[in-house]
Amino acid sequence: MMNLILSRECGNSCPYCFDEAEKQAGQKHFISMEEVGAFAKWAYNARLPYLSLSGGEPFLHPKLGMIVKLFRQNCRDTAIRILSGGVFNKDVLDTISPEDAGIIFNVNEPKDYENPKHFCKVINNIETAIRKGFRIGIGFNVWRLDFDTAFISNLAHRLALPRFTWAVANPINGLPSKAVLPEQYPAFSERCFQMLQEAARLNIEAGLDCSLPLCFFNDAQMGWVRQYHPGTASLMGTCEPPPIDVTPELEVIRCFACSKAARLKLRDFHNQGEIEEWFQKHIDAQLLHKGVFPYCSECQHLKEGRCYGGCLACREEDIGLVREKLNSPSLEQQMDEALGTGKADLALSYFNAANHWLKTDAATFKAAVAASKLGDWTQALRYATKANYNATEFETMRKIREFIASIPSSALDTGVEVAANEGSNVFVSLPVQTVRGKDST
Ligand code: SF4
Ligand code: SF4
Ligand code: SF4
Repeated sequence: MMNLILSRECGNSCPYCFDEAEKQAGQKHFISMEEVGAFAKWAYNARLPYLSLSGGEPFLHPKLGMIVKLFRQNCRDTAIRILSGGVFNKDVLDTISPEDAGIIFNVNEPKDYENPKHFCKVINNIETAIRKGFRIGIGFNVWRLDFDTAFISNLAHRLALPRFTWAVANPINGLPSKAVLPEQYPAFSERCFQMLQEAARLNIEAGLDCSLPLCFFNDAQMGWVRQYHPGTASLMGTCEPPPIDVTPELEVIRCFACSKAARLKLRDFHNQGEIEEWFQKHIDAQLLHKGVFPYCSECQHLKEGRCYGGCLACREEDIGLVREKLNSPSLEQQMDEALGTGKADLALSYFNAANHWLKTDAATFKAAVAASKLGDWTQALRYATKANYNATEFETMRKIREFIASIPSSALDTGVEVAANEGSNVFVSLPVQTVRGKDST
């Protein structure tokens, strides 16, 4: 998902405000029509499938109606939604056609608005938007232990909405925060689970907005969540692909929480996929050698890429280091250099020491080449097969196939493993290579 920040202004008072760093960093309060036009041109060329107009409060942008029309006319295939905190003058709704954009309202419990009138304003605006025919969603950020677990389900029920989205408010890298700390998760997750049970009781589905650790719920809870709230279960573990925020200056940040890690220029990229790949390679992969808990680095879910070990913004010191090391050689470059100087064992040791996310298809293929140079053809085939499985570029796939075809079959330990479970069908697995005491990844 890509979010375009239209406004840094906001009259709301969310205690966990995720836009705080941007409010401080930004030069402009509102995006100019010139930048909107440039973004629309980029989005059209990039065939952007979805776009969220966000803020601050996007409804405070004095030309919101024109902006939505401009996108509708120039990017017909891009689905548009507006992300709002709901504190705005309801007349602005008349400037937008319900056919052109949906609206997601972020709603807090009444006690969390500094101005007590704001909760009523938000609810009035949601009801007005529904009556005008807008497609509406509501979202809820949980940020403290004593939250009302029935609040958001009851509100969705009252508004006749079949689902809501929710997230645990994350800290913002480099800023003081009121977000829940990872060490509070055990008590906190019980209350979140209660919230999901309240939702299921009212036949309302809850989708997760921002990833949570895979161990946030225990195994039994997770089994239940998978059945009743698949939109929550599917987002647990990793935050891939990263949500991307584009500032009014058309700078790109990975997400609000990691806004201090790197800022890119939108026009340097052809499409959303290229931007996601850059962030995954230069930010995510560099940070994922550990997680928010001391035991994450030994967790199989982190090692195998099923979990990010919690929000990246919780790794404040590491984000600073990542920023400093943006131009240092990648794993692939290090392996190339080692292979180029005949040090295949060094190339393999770089590879084995790297985390799951740094082991790209290109790096894994280099590990195959290194293993072959050391005479370990069985391991070379294992690496090459894995690289082939993950590769997406035609040229890379061709090279890997040629490499696999060149492996002398007499050098392989092959076999067919028959796996049988009592009481179940016997099945024959793919040929399994016997690993000779090396890393089997
Ligand atoms: S609505 Fe958004 S920008 Fe405004 S205070 Fe809440 S989180 Fe911050
Ligand atoms: S990596 Fe860390 S946060 Fe993720 S499941 Fe393992 S222990 Fe939990
Ligand atoms: S790093 Fe991931 S979990 Fe943390 S705020 Fe960004 S998208 Fe959400």
